[in-house]
Amino acid sequence: AETTMDNLVALAKRRGFVFQSSEIYGGLNGFFDYGPLGVELKKNIRDCWWNDMVRRRDDVVGLESSIIMHPKVWEASGHVAGFTDPLIDCKVSKQRFRADQLFFAPVVVDDKTVGYVSALESENTTGELQAAAENFKRKKAIQGQLAPVVAKDMTEAKPEEIALIPSPATGEPGSLTPPRAFNMMFETYVGPMRDSSAVAYLRPETAQGMFVDFKNVVDTGRVKLPFGIAQIGKSFRNEITPRNFIFRSREFEQMEMEYFIHEDADWAKCHQEWIDWCRNWLISIGLPESHLSFFSHPKEKLAFYSKGTVDIMFKYPFGVQELWGIAARGNYDLNQHAQASGKSQEYFDEPSKKRFVPHVIEPAVGVDRIFLAVLCAAYTEDEAPDEKGKMEKRIVLKLSPRIAPVKVAVLPLLKNKEQLTQRAKALYAKLKRKYAAFYDDGGAIGRRYRRQDEIGTPWCVTIDFDTIEKPGDTFTLRERDSMKQSRITEAELFALLDEKVY
Ligand code: ATP
Repeated sequence: AETTMDNLVALAKRRGFVFQSSEIYGGLNGFFDYGPLGVELKKNIRDCWWNDMVRRRDDVVGLESSIIMHPKVWEASGHVAGFTDPLIDCKVSKQRFRADQLFFAPVVVDDKTVGYVSALESENTTGELQAAAENFKRKKAIQGQLAPVVAKDMTEAKPEEIALIPSPATGEPGSLTPPRAFNMMFETYVGPMRDSSAVAYLRPETAQGMFVDFKNVVDTGRVKLPFGIAQIGKSFRNEITPRNFIFRSREFEQMEMEYFIHEDADWAKCHQEWIDWCRNWLISIGLPESHLSFFSHPKEKLAFYSKGTVDIMFKYPFGVQELWGIAARGNYDLNQHAQASGKSQEYFDEPSKKRFVPHVIEPAVGVDRIFLAVLCAAYTEDEAPDEKGKMEKRIVLKLSPRIAPVKVAVLPLLKNKEQLTQRAKALYAKLKRKYAAFYDDGGAIGRRYRRQDEIGTPWCVTIDFDTIEKPGDTFTLRERDSMKQSRITEAELFALLDEKVY
């Protein structure tokens, strides 16, 4: 069966992965909470990234900068002036839309434009516009041949067209304003004064922290070019239309790394190396290669300072969307901060005896987007025998052992046999010092396996009569995806976990 967002959202809620924020008050659009299992999965994604990106590399160091920074940071970076999305107001419904997510098409009958239709971006925008055009023609009793619609987004609409395009909220023509730039930074005030001098911003990205602390790291961190500074942390964007569950939210978490290189370095080669690294890392946490693709931003759409940006795209149920952006940014950011602060950001390169402002390659990814991609790829429905051997539907999350919230479940075959539960509890106590383990002695064993399948636990070990009656102290090891069972000793179990959970 196809993974649908409805199935995923239902599972995420039912099993305590993701809740709507402030749900008892009706929720707050664009904000989410991670429940007991979600918080574990998210932490594992973060930890894998941090281990692979920082601890296991000799050329990357970590940083945790503050969320609220000096407002001049965001002036220098260009965010105050330019971190905007095009916004459209509906004057009648008072709703707001992102212009590039709102589509329209002229209704053309016998080569004449007889009206306009609009639709919000969806998996089938053109189909919806076509249906709306047919409806329009029928309602107005217009005769003639309806031409296929050509969908454009509202940023491409001419003012005289906007006056005729019906609002997607009310259907009334003439209720939309032309697009205007809407800044997505959240504002707050620092200190007791509530005037313009106290305005500050919640950071819309973590990257500026690395630029602003560049000198501090160079002066204290025994780093030499090329080297990177990495950070994981919350970012905030007042998205006009948060949607697709946790894909686009207003509070989210980023994992970013700025890789500083020599001004004469082969940036294209370095860029490609980081694209490959990111792709391989995604595969290492279990994303299937078949769901990944690359999108190279066309040169004419790049910011003037940018040398190239490649996005790693993921095939979500709602379409192929950006997961990870890898940008070659030249030395724009450090130069901007040098100019705005008056503090030189130059680096003295010992081998070449040159002084210059380093260039940078920036891989930037959202933890929540990886979380969603991982759930989408892992969600599987298949069949398994029930208690009586009859086949029934099974929901299984095929999560990589690297990120699964629970690595191993310990299950005594029977709850009321002390020899079994004692051995099980001893094993559980030993396991949980090193791995996220779970102890469950409630209900039929098949049911317990099913519960672990649904939360993605790669292995269950069952302590049964063979464990206590036969020599060797072995358990039944049950593997999640194949449901195969075998016998294993405690030492072998630890060796297996040690190999697969890293
Ligand atoms: P988009 O075009 O989807 O808005 P972007 O190109 O603005 O994203 P970047 O500024 O490059 O995104 O941010 C880097 C990464 O941060 C993105 O690749 C994405 O994984 C994540 N991200 C950005 N905005 C959001 C958001 N609103 N919610 C969740 N994750 C986000």
